[in-house]
Amino acid sequence: MKRRLDQLVASTDHAARREADPVGFVHRYADPADKEVVGLVAAGLAFGNVVAIRRSVQRVLDTLGPSPAAAVDERTPARLRRDLKGFVHRVWKGEHVAAMLANAGAIRRSHGSLGQRFTDHVETSGDLREGLARFADELRGPNADRSLRHLVPDPRAGSACKRLLLYVRWMVRPADGVDLGLWPLDPSHLVIPVDTHIHRIGKNLGLTDRNDASWRTAEEITDALRVIDRSDPVRYDFALCHMGVSRDCPSRRDPVKCKPCVLRPVCRAYRAG
Ligand code: SF4
Repeated sequence: MKRRLDQLVASTDHAARREADPVGFVHRYADPADKEVVGLVAAGLAFGNVVAIRRSVQRVLDTLGPSPAAAVDERTPARLRRDLKGFVHRVWKGEHVAAMLANAGAIRRSHGSLGQRFTDHVETSGDLREGLARFADELRGPNADRSLRHLVPDPRAGSACKRLLLYVRWMVRPADGVDLGLWPLDPSHLVIPVDTHIHRIGKNLGLTDRNDASWRTAEEITDALRVIDRSDPVRYDFALCHMGVSRDCPSRRDPVKCKPCVLRPVCRAYRAG
């Protein structure tokens, strides 16, 4: 399995895929402070149609100006709300994104960076899930309505929290042209961001038998990948996810799509026929 997954990573055109991925926005900025704020926006809004996601992320970044970190650090919550008035992406309005960004600014002013605060939470709680939950509590703030709770979900509630885990993967995993290695946390702690693609491919490869895209499924897939790479279990996420995004992996054996797949020898779905 490891050899095949390594082949998949080696055969993935990371540069081309990165540009089509929300993480591409993060790479446009040089300052680590801007990168962590842009990552929060890009991962936070990574829900729905790819074209709409890109349009919405760009709209928020245009509003924040050349230094998104300076904008969230300096602008008041009322100013951010005003700046994002009229913004809509799926169930989220400008006021929800503004609340998340205002809270991000408050965290940065108190703790120096989002990464430092997140890492402190993981280390003091001794647990990625609880550390992420405490971090999300602060990003969401008190009295959050349903849409804001959806924008910044609570990992304790059991959902896969794909967008939060995606953000953390970008910031924590070693820099490899996609992920950035900005936050001082050991990548062995990470949990894979499970969406419909990772769930399907995870089942095809026998990494999980679970039918729900939940936190438990994310942990189960991560545990299976940890056997392959204990120090960096989510290193295959980008390549696997883009295999799904580009519709290269069906949910059942497909003679045409499966023929060129490097994972074919280790694919349970392919063997099942
Ligand atoms: S062999 Fe087919 S079903 Fe299995 S991982 Fe590859 S493309 Fe997906």
